Amino acid sequence: RQAEYDRLRDKPAITLDGTDVTLLMNAGLRADLPSLDESGADGIGLFRTEFQFLVSATLPRRERQTSLYKNVIEVAGDRPVIFRTVDIGGDKAVPYVDSAAREENPAMGYRALRLALGRKGLLKVQARALLEASEGKTLRIMFPMVSEPWEFAEAKALVLEQLAAQMARGGAMPKELKFGAMLEVPALAEMLDLFLPQVDFLSVGTNDLVQFLFAADRSNPLLAERYDWLSPAVLRFLKRVIDAADDAGKPISVCGEMGGRPIAAMALLALGFRRLSITPAGIGPVKAMIRTLELAPLSKAMEGWLRSGANVRDKLEDWADKHTVR
Ligand code: PEP
Ligand code: MG
Repeated sequence: RQAEYDRLRDKPAITLDGTDVTLLMNAGLRADLPSLDESGADGIGLFRTEFQFLVSATLPRRERQTSLYKNVIEVAGDRPVIFRTVDIGGDKAVPYVDSAAREENPAMGYRALRLALGRKGLLKVQARALLEASEGKTLRIMFPMVSEPWEFAEAKALVLEQLAAQMARGGAMPKELKFGAMLEVPALAEMLDLFLPQVDFLSVGTNDLVQFLFAADRSNPLLAERYDWLSPAVLRFLKRVIDAADDAGKPISVCGEMGGRPIAAMALLALGFRRLSITPAGIGPVKAMIRTLELAPLSKAMEGWLRSGANVRDKLEDWADKHTVR
């Protein structure tokens, strides 16, 4: 199979009925960068900047952050990169950042943007490192765990302050700056009419989103099999989100792990998603699926399944067996 995926590397991800799909990859460390060329990804749709913090014994200083981001941008070349600001805290605790006392519910705790807005020094240093690394390029910054629109606004304002300071210093400046939010807290989905005009792009973090929708810890093995990310509840929710983004004319992607599984990726395409950021190992299999998929009839079938509350996983497996060249 690998040989087949290698052959697809430079081929476009386009369905049999002509729908183009953008396949980006998730990354977080220098070691991930060779995967960009190896997988043939269209860019990096999620760069998890906290990984540098997680593997470091001490707080990575600005120079180290800048150097990593520069490296990423260099390797990416003309391909876009979305840098997600640190998602520290929760299950990704780092010993040298005292997020809080022990938390009963770390996933719902003082983490990600919540922590970054509480410890502004951290976000300021990161913003400066990102700005410096993006000299002459488009810098795309994405904030994790945005729960209310004001959190996004506050974080964006903080980055813009750093930009002004950088300009005043005569320092390196990006050519263009774009701000996005992760949609992984359900409450934000209720605010999209007001929130979408504020963002340049949105990315759905289905790993956290599904855990919050079902109130089921994503790392608890006892619950791992219980709720399906292909359940109608999740898919109906995602449908509302993609429709809102399309109506507002804002680019939207999915960067959770489900997009890297061909069957789940089929579901996302049927709902209307056209950009997926996935694990590099998923690019080949997902592209192979896309290139053998007739999307229009699947989208139509999906509407019916969601109306009737069918077992969508079974339906999709069945569809893949009958309709796509596996
Ligand atoms: C997600 O929550 O779906 C996501 C992409 O982010 P992470 O897995 O890093 O929380
Ligand atoms: Mg997440």
